[in-house]
Amino acid sequence: MEISERLRSIKPSATLSVNAKTLELRSQGVDIVSLAVGEPDFPTPAHICEAAQAAIAEGFTRYTAVPGIAPLRQAVGHYYERHYGISVPQEAVIISNGGKHALYNLMQALLNPGDSVLIPAPYWVSYPDMVALAGAKPLMVHAGVEKNFKVTPAMLEAKRQPCTRMLILNSPSNPTGAVYTPDEFNAIMQWAVENNLFVISDEIYDQLVFAPACMTSALSWWQRYPEQVAVVNGVAKSFAMTGWRVGYTVAHPELVKKLSVLQGQCTSNVCSIAQKAALAALEGSYDCVTTMNKAFLRRRDIAYSTVCSWKKARSPRPDGAFYVFADVREYFRPGMANSAELCTRLLEEAHVALVPGVAFGDDNCIRFSYAVSDTVLVESLNRVAAVLDR
Ligand code: GLU
Repeated sequence: MEISERLRSIKPSATLSVNAKTLELRSQGVDIVSLAVGEPDFPTPAHICEAAQAAIAEGFTRYTAVPGIAPLRQAVGHYYERHYGISVPQEAVIISNGGKHALYNLMQALLNPGDSVLIPAPYWVSYPDMVALAGAKPLMVHAGVEKNFKVTPAMLEAKRQPCTRMLILNSPSNPTGAVYTPDEFNAIMQWAVENNLFVISDEIYDQLVFAPACMTSALSWWQRYPEQVAVVNGVAKSFAMTGWRVGYTVAHPELVKKLSVLQGQCTSNVCSIAQKAALAALEGSYDCVTTMNKAFLRRRDIAYSTVCSWKKARSPRPDGAFYVFADVREYFRPGMANSAELCTRLLEEAHVALVPGVAFGDDNCIRFSYAVSDTVLVESLNRVAAVLDR
């Protein structure tokens, strides 16, 4: 079969592949514990599920406006007013099928063949492939463990080319959990706008930042430079709603119109019922977020202190999201000589699923998602340590 050139150059998502492999092994009865996929283990809070049930009962099951129902677009505005004190009009918001779809659409809307895009590495697995699907070229800017996994304007400038059009930021970061300080973040934004780059700020983990670190959003930059900045977020991680697929973009209203045209030709609106659920999440009580975040902080401390106690692993303390990204190169040996082989060995011998760092652009590392119960976390880290030390 003749598959398009475009698709032939695309890799499967490593996070989803490891998840699929885990589910397959479990269905064969193998006792796999997974620290692989980044998804909260909590059920979606009851008041959110009830809103979805009410939507079905009311027959709210037809097409909606392509960019989302007005109350949900307004709720995104309220969210930014509430958390960042910045007002965002409905025309500047589009609801998409998860943060992933929001990102994909932005790249389709903004990039042309021949453009290049700066991606700080380690990066979330899907950025480079989304850039490639838009015909553009990803330019990785690597910041390893010794740089606390953070890039600087000087590092970005060293990689920038005349054809560079875009920069993708992600703080808190998946996979590293690194959170840029306000000074670090704003210096990068300043450099980017001065150099006429479009910045996509993926802020899907904005509710998951652990004090004393604090969240810096690109939203104030969007307010000042609306034609050069888009902020992407969603309800998946903050409200334990990964399967509902509701993400959103804040961008210039003209860009939002174009994104709606694209979405209207590809997917139409996000599931009407999921939109009602997301509305209940954004407009309802945030007690559920606080409760889940307390658990994530406790697990961060468990995971980070355990990994630090391993003699040959290195990791800066992750200040956000729910990942520890550890440099484990000193454990490499024949048969487990890189991150992929190490993860295969851990899956086969420790029965623990992890995502190899190579998928995120750093082959010295492996990613642990601690969005699992404390017991599973402790048990799986012990199993990993046993294999590493063997
Ligand atoms: N973003 C999550 C992760 O990195 C979910 C899987 C995905 O869509 O990549 O594990």
